[in-house]
Amino acid sequence: MIPCFAAEKTLGRLTKWLRLLGFDTLFESELSGKRFIDSLESDRILLTRTRRIYQQFATRKLIFVESDHLEFQLNQIFRELGLKAAQTRPFSRCLQCNLPIVTVEKTALLGQVPDYIFETHDHFNQCPKCERIFWPGSHTCRSLEKIRQLFDYKTGSNA
Ligand SMILES: [Zn+2]
Repeated sequence: MIPCFAAEKTLGRLTKWLRLLGFDTLFESELSGKRFIDSLESDRILLTRTRRIYQQFATRKLIFVESDHLEFQLNQIFRELGLKAAQTRPFSRCLQCNLPIVTVEKTALLGQVPDYIFETHDHFNQCPKCERIFWPGSHTCRSLEKIRQLFDYKTGSNA
């Protein structure tokens, strides 16, 4: 079972990275505070850095995020939930909209991506909401490197 998350507004960077790894992650924005938390499905794991929230909503699924640092935050979540690298789906979700991106026919994209990209790639995905187009390599090498590091970090020398 792949978990889904909801993150409070101090956890924007963590939200982006959970989405990047493929996890459905809502972010506290228009709705905030108690209204945000009350709007969540019961199986959605609330990520909070606020001790008061942690205590007030102790009966729901939540993780009290201990660190300020992204790597430690991700490591804590993966450790507490026993998540493995195989359960991630990197680059399968729009970072802005939190929706799974879908395959689109290349021919439908003529003129919508740079010519060089159109000529050198055959597989394209698109966010159904914001319509942003993705192709292999449209994500920075830095993101890939970071993912690699995260899992190296997590598994240590036993990898
Ligand atoms: Zn989008």
